[in-house]
Amino acid sequence: MTAQKKIKQPVGTGRTYRKRVELLRLIDKIKLWPSRKGILHGIRSIEKMGDQARITTHCSKTFVVTNSRNSRAARWLRNKWFKQVCGVCKIPAWKLEKYSATRFKRHYGSALLDKDETSP
Ligand SMILES: [Zn+2]
Repeated sequence: MTAQKKIKQPVGTGRTYRKRVELLRLIDKIKLWPSRKGILHGIRSIEKMGDQARITTHCSKTFVVTNSRNSRAARWLRNKWFKQVCGVCKIPAWKLEKYSATRFKRHYGSALLDKDETSP
């Protein structure tokens, strides 16, 4: 009888985004945009222009963002932080769940409370 040990490979933790991921890569993946007021919009299209990108939301807002790791939006997206969802964009529930899955697991139930930016 051979005692062959199976080495378990750690399952990729693909859910958590690495800390210093670029903004454009984040939104490219998530397709959501938190506005300054904390309203989450759905992104209809991203038009990359070098270090910037023109974003069009489903509610027909267009704006240009600069690819940065430290911008407010990048931080909010990493923290999955938002106050409410845009009524016009109609982001499907499954998308929101996917977006906030990591966070809800950690602070289950507390994520939707009206808080300022939560500390890590
Ligand atoms: Zn919107």
